[in-house]
Amino acid sequence: MYRGGCLCGAIRFEITGGIRNIIYCHCSRCRKAQGSAFATNGIVESKDFKILSGEKELTGFESSPGQTKYFCRHCGSPMLSKNVTKPEQVRVRLGTIESDIEERPAAHIFVSSKANWEDICGDIPQYDAYEPDR
Ligand SMILES: [Zn+2]
Ligand SMILES: [Zn+2]
Repeated sequence: MYRGGCLCGAIRFEITGGIRNIIYCHCSRCRKAQGSAFATNGIVESKDFKILSGEKELTGFESSPGQTKYFCRHCGSPMLSKNVTKPEQVRVRLGTIESDIEERPAAHIFVSSKANWEDICGDIPQYDAYEPDR
């Protein structure tokens, strides 16, 4: 069981299952959405993701057709994204999870559009676009 929430504390959630396909995404849209060099996202089954409080504070922006990025309307913390074609899963922003997590990132993606000031470190695979099994 993992617990997390936004910066101001209005939104609290728990994850009762595992997290899979954790990736660092360096694409320009993720960089803007996070205000940082990359986004770190993992897939959680929708049935395993529960908002405990503050659901009405969660607001979204449809960043591409069918894909909505959700954030806290008070503090702006990026929380998760959903795609209408995959209602069975949510893509959680790992920085919002407060528990230690057991899973580990599997890849860096969209390294072809990374910020020119970023040096990627570590041994996990790097891909110019999506990872092969997407
Ligand atoms: Zn908040
Ligand atoms: Zn991205």
